[in-house]
Amino acid sequence: MVQVQSYSEPSPTQTIPEQGYDCDLVIVGGGIAGLTLASALKDSGLRILLIEAREKSAAVAKGQAYAVHMLSALIYQGIGVWDKILPQIETYRRVRLSDADYPEVVEFNTSDLHTQDLGYVAEHQALLYPLQEFVQGCDNVTVLCPAEVVSTEYFADEVCVAVKLAGEIRTVRSKLMVAADGARSRIREAAGIKTRGWKYWQSCIVAFVKPEKSHNHTAYEKFWSSGPFAILPLPGNRCRIVWTAPHEEAQALCALNDEQFLAELTRRYGKEMGKLELLGDRFIFQVRLMQSDRYALHRLALVGDAAHNCHPVGGQGLNLGIRDVAALAQVIKAAHQAREDIGNLQVLKRYERWRKQENLAILGFTDLLDRMFSNNFLPLVMLRRLGLWIMQRVPLLKIFTLKLMIGLKGRTPKLAQNS
Ligand SMILES: Cc1cc2nc3c(=O)[nH]c(=O)nc-3n(C[C@H](O)[C@H](O)[C@H](O)COP(=O)(O)OP(=O)(O)OC[C@H]3O[C@@H](n4cnc5c(N)ncnc54)[C@H](O)[C@@H]3O)c2cc1C
Repeated sequence: MVQVQSYSEPSPTQTIPEQGYDCDLVIVGGGIAGLTLASALKDSGLRILLIEAREKSAAVAKGQAYAVHMLSALIYQGIGVWDKILPQIETYRRVRLSDADYPEVVEFNTSDLHTQDLGYVAEHQALLYPLQEFVQGCDNVTVLCPAEVVSTEYFADEVCVAVKLAGEIRTVRSKLMVAADGARSRIREAAGIKTRGWKYWQSCIVAFVKPEKSHNHTAYEKFWSSGPFAILPLPGNRCRIVWTAPHEEAQALCALNDEQFLAELTRRYGKEMGKLELLGDRFIFQVRLMQSDRYALHRLALVGDAAHNCHPVGGQGLNLGIRDVAALAQVIKAAHQAREDIGNLQVLKRYERWRKQENLAILGFTDLLDRMFSNNFLPLVMLRRLGLWIMQRVPLLKIFTLKLMIGLKGRTPKLAQNS
């Protein structure tokens, strides 16, 4: 028997027999997408194994923050984990969208949707930690961490997964494997699933700042010709900066000292919240668009960044992954209740048909936004400024755009309807 560490703290010892382990579903990747899937299947009656390569503490420590859209919040409410997440995150009640410093601003408010909030902003650990805790309380889920999937073999009636844990290789046999192993998914590559897309000419700088005045629960998206610039409210009157710029400019901005960087930041953002103080380091990310040709093969499904990546404008990436997971959980549960084989391609195609087109629409929309605004071509400048002017004055168009951006325009998973 090999001793493995679970997420539990203090960690109870779990074991996996030398002859291997049988389950219904293996989830590879204990990031937000993988943990959300395990949580969504808590009452499914399926025996689930979740495998995460990094130590629990390393997984939590990722210094990222995300806009969390209304539909994602409804999904977490349906799962039953939202009351643990909400106290750790910030709400936004106003979104101000503008073309650089052109005075015409499109403003979205809670009155547009008749809701208390428009959305939320969460740091990585504020989502990951409650999900880890929730999964720990699911009797049907076993977590192997740190453990790594090193190879997979697909058969007609099962998938065999070689897992490296505590320096030894063990075999796991399952009806279905879900790859939630991120943008560089080795599971996707090994299965020969092709992807389409491109790297953007822009990189993305992220940083945390503390403004002098209250952020007032407002999110800003300013479209500069070099790239979109967002400032999002966080708890403790902090803000998250998500700033895209051409690679060289982004590198140069990152190389500035704090004072110079803040001066550039203030030039892009303005002075509405007074002086900004930089908190911690800045990080730079590569930006790309990617869509997998297939989201499902016999005994394999892809979710989250393993299936698609998009430009950070509008904070869509993780939210698309959460919607994937809610859709897949619904398809798997229904198939299991109908005594169908959950790993059969016919079943998994239902998930692929649901999510692939919806994700493509958002990938296309974010790409269009970035290209429309990231240039100084005069006819386009006039067209987009006219577009913003119209949007601010035509409520139907404004509400349609808002609902599209926060996930309320696609097919709603049952989990979100239950909440
Ligand atoms: C600058 C920037 C800003 C962003 N802002 C937003 C935003 O505001 N809102 C939003 O919705 N999205 C945003 N995104 C996108 C978001 O970060 C991603 O979509 C999201 O983190 C993907 O989550 P995931 O769980 O699919 O993958 P990951 O977070 O990459 O998780 C994959 C997990 O799989 C594990 N793993 C990998 N290989 C193996 C293996 N072989 N065996 C076991 N485990 C393995 C990894 O250790 C990891 O924990 C942003 C992205 C960037 C770059």
